[in-house]
Amino acid sequence: QGNRSMFSKPLTEAFHALINTNDQAIILINRRGFSSFVLCRECGHVVECPNCHVSLTYHQNDKRMHCHYCFHKEILPKQCPECASPYLRQFGVGTEQVQEVLGKKFPELKAIRLDADSTRRKGSHSDILKQFGEGKAQVLIGTQMVAKGLDFPNVTLVGVLSADLGLNFPDVRAAERTFQLLTQVAGRSGRGFKPGRVIIQAYEPQHFAIQCARNHDYLSFYRQEISFRRALGYPPFQHLVRILCSGPQQVTEQTAREIYDFLLNMGISKETILGPSPAPISRIQGRYRWQIVIKSTYPLQNVLRGLPTPKQHVIVGVDFDPLFML
Ligand SMILES: [Zn+2]
Ligand SMILES: [Zn+2]
Repeated sequence: QGNRSMFSKPLTEAFHALINTNDQAIILINRRGFSSFVLCRECGHVVECPNCHVSLTYHQNDKRMHCHYCFHKEILPKQCPECASPYLRQFGVGTEQVQEVLGKKFPELKAIRLDADSTRRKGSHSDILKQFGEGKAQVLIGTQMVAKGLDFPNVTLVGVLSADLGLNFPDVRAAERTFQLLTQVAGRSGRGFKPGRVIIQAYEPQHFAIQCARNHDYLSFYRQEISFRRALGYPPFQHLVRILCSGPQQVTEQTAREIYDFLLNMGISKETILGPSPAPISRIQGRYRWQIVIKSTYPLQNVLRGLPTPKQHVIVGVDFDPLFML
């Protein structure tokens, strides 16, 4: 909390303790969603993909900004496209930056990465794990991939960076996912005969999902989460249905509004309908996205079968109790 450097004091000390031992560490970066976006320090502009309403992610290896939705790539601009300020900076932490900083601070600790970029080549995923298992590297840096099922007896330290990033995600199950991720990753430490430590770094360490994960307290987590969902009418108390329209700007919005009118005509009350509004990611690959979310205590399949025909070039998708609503 309040740490400006990448590693907190306890984590730094734990790294020190690894030097000249056979003990190993796993560093997990919770980077679902927003990581390494490029921000103007003068005007706050975030560099976005020209085709999608998402921020571009900076990749160290090719020094380019990538869109993870349409594979658009571009070089880092010299100045802000909004205000022409030269102070553009990348924010957020990726596996590459962690490896770089770790290498500078602790040259004694050899680290390897396990993430979508390092495992693109076929078979490289198991190669990396094999190397780590054989002790050819002392630290494994990874994304969600390292959270599950890995069993290395020499791992005595697990560090989680930005543990709560997922909590700000537009997702009904954000707290559940964060809790799950943290309890899973914590299980990676101390699987051999040696005791293990878990260090969680978070911006909001008091959040109940983090506190409960820290105490391995599933019951308290369940009680708080379930009362929160009951109050908000989220699953399992009510069904959520998301209707997503995508296509050219005007006709997509029109289609969403027609569907809304149709729902009202079918007797669904206004209070249970959210939208129509642009989806959290309002454009992907040049297609505009509008959504309507309905909360309902009864299944709506019959009503939704009669949805009006979408305008030309518009695609309408219906999701029941969606896992994500991006
Ligand atoms: Zn700017
Ligand atoms: Zn894109």
